[in-house]
Amino acid sequence: MAQPLKTLILGTGPAGYTAAIYAARANMNPVVLAGQQPGGQLTITSDVENYPGFPEGVMGPEMMEMFKAQAERFGTEVIFEHAEEVDLSQRPFKTKTTVGNEYESATLIISTGASAQYLGLPNETALQGRGVSACATCDGFFFRDKVVYVVGGGDSACEEATFLTKFAKEVHMIVRRDVFRASKIMAERALENPKITVHWKKRVTDVFGADTGKVTGVQVADADGGETKDVECDGLFLAIGHKPNTDMFRGQLEMDDVGYLITQPDRTATDVPGVFACGDCQDSYYRQAVTAAGTGCGAAIEAERWLEENPL
Ligand code: NAP
Repeated sequence: MAQPLKTLILGTGPAGYTAAIYAARANMNPVVLAGQQPGGQLTITSDVENYPGFPEGVMGPEMMEMFKAQAERFGTEVIFEHAEEVDLSQRPFKTKTTVGNEYESATLIISTGASAQYLGLPNETALQGRGVSACATCDGFFFRDKVVYVVGGGDSACEEATFLTKFAKEVHMIVRRDVFRASKIMAERALENPKITVHWKKRVTDVFGADTGKVTGVQVADADGGETKDVECDGLFLAIGHKPNTDMFRGQLEMDDVGYLITQPDRTATDVPGVFACGDCQDSYYRQAVTAAGTGCGAAIEAERWLEENPL
């Protein structure tokens, strides 16, 4: 068997690639497993306007190509496989991927990010990709001159609703409270857009069209359980937050009720020595590309220092 890697990094969002840049420059010869969504969540957004260093903004996919190129420039090896099982009970740590390969590593950096949440409606799954979507950037193009509903009141919902106005003739936002959670600037953009109508204190309780194979309407209910109304539409976009991608660590690493990995205060070290977590899989509070990159840097520095003191 080949020598265990000094470090294996799981995930290729801003956290994973930043960890790779720092680990590579520290001569740790990092290998990164790209995961199910190479480049992470930014590959399914449009303009990134709040990442420092890009005064004019940058497209999410383009930015992630730059992260990758920078990591590779210093010798990072990016492998397009998805980890599905880990054994953290002893070192070297073992990571198995969906194609059956196994990687051994002296340290492990987890940057598996988070995935979009769905409402859990009866017909939602059947209509995914047929009018139900959690990514306006990916699917907005298909809704030219159509009527679409967006669920959520956070930055994602405001951003997606605003983006969808480029294509759709009407965009309806369904917000379960009477306020947005979104930042002021994103909220104002949505509120000022003449194509967007915000429906406060409402919920989507069903989506119709499973029999025809595409969305034909939704059921909208009062958030406090009152009246319901069926409305016609062509698309339902969900922007109700994300779930950390940490299922494979259940029972091996400490996590909170939602699944966010718990790290030491102000550190990326998990409760298993030699295993570090960074980015959205351990951050339920900031969840920004720049903070993910910051914790990715921290994870690589901690892994390097820890390995120096605890060689295999
Ligand atoms: P979020 O901030 O957690 O907002 C989720 C929204 O969905 C909230 O309005 C929430 O309502 C609502 N919601 C949650 N579950 C729901 C359900 N079952 N039914 C109906 N509504 C539901 O998530 P996010 O908007 O995806 O943002 C995540 C993070 O990324 C945030 O830190 C955000 O600032 C950041 N972000 C930034 C940008 C940007 O700056 N360009 C863009 C996108 C995201 P309540 O408010 O009632 O809980």
